[in-house]
Amino acid sequence: MFYKCSIPLFIVLILLANCTKSPLVAMDSRTGNSAQVEVSNQLMVLEQAAADRQPVDNSSTEPAKYVYLTFDDGPNSHYTGIILDILKKYDVKASFVVIGSNIEKNPEVLKRIVNEGHGLVNHTFSHDYNKIYASPRAFLEDLQKCAQAITALTEKNVKVFRAPGGPAKLNKNIDELLSKNGYLSLGWNVSAADTDPNGATPEQVYGNVANGVVNMERMKRVPIILMHDGTEINLSQSSPGTATLNYIKNRESDVAALPKIIEFLQARGYSFAIVDEKTPSVW
Ligand SMILES: [Zn+2]
Repeated sequence: MFYKCSIPLFIVLILLANCTKSPLVAMDSRTGNSAQVEVSNQLMVLEQAAADRQPVDNSSTEPAKYVYLTFDDGPNSHYTGIILDILKKYDVKASFVVIGSNIEKNPEVLKRIVNEGHGLVNHTFSHDYNKIYASPRAFLEDLQKCAQAITALTEKNVKVFRAPGGPAKLNKNIDELLSKNGYLSLGWNVSAADTDPNGATPEQVYGNVANGVVNMERMKRVPIILMHDGTEINLSQSSPGTATLNYIKNRESDVAALPKIIEFLQARGYSFAIVDEKTPSVW
C-alpha cells in the first residue's frame, strides 16, 4: 500500500479534498460543551441511520475481512483518551498516526495507546508543511525525529509513516530517500472528511465512512479509514475563531459517530487490524 508514484487524477482529487489541514493552535482541552449539546441532538438521527442498514450475512466459510481504523494528528490530551475508551468498550484495535511534537506534550497518552495493543504510525515530528516539504533530507530528518520520540517511550521501531497532507504530497525524490531508509508510506482509501473547515456532523462522519467502506467492498479493497484525534485546541481563548470551533465540532462528531462506525463494521463481518509493514495496498 505503500504508495510509490503515479497516482490517477481522481485519487489525487479525493486526497486533496480530504487533506485540508486544520489550524494548529496551543492547548487546553476543556471541551466544547456547546458543541457537545449540538452533537447530542444529532445522535438520534445517527442511530436511526445505523438501524436502517442491513447487516451483511457473515458466513463462516468466507475468508476474514479486515479493516484498518486510523486516527491522525495525536496523541491528544483529550480526544485520544475518549477514543481509546470507546475502542476498549468494543474490544477493537486501531492505529494512531502520531506527531512527534504531540508525543512530547502527551507522553502518557502514547504509552496508553501501546499498552492497550493499538498500532502506531509515524506522522513526522513537526507536521509543518513548509519545513518537511522543503527537501527530501528535511522530510527524512523530521520523520526520524518522530521515530526517535516513539522509540524513547515505547521501544518500538516504527517504519510505517503517513505523509502530512497525504502520500500525494511526496515527490519522487522524497519517496526514494525514504524507501532507501526503510520507511513505508501509508495512505487511506476511506475518509471521514472530519477536517472539513465548515464542520462535520456525526451523521456526516458516519455516512462518509459507511459509504466509503461499501465502495471499497465493491472495489475489493481492504478499507483503510482516515479519522483524526488531534490536534490540541486552545479553548481558553476568549473568542475562538470559526475554524477552531469547527475543528472542535469535528472532533466531537468523531467521538459521537465512532461507536456506530464500529457497530457498522462489526455487522459487516470485519476484524480490526493494526497497521504494520504488511498492511495491504490502499489501491
Ligand atoms: Zn496530519
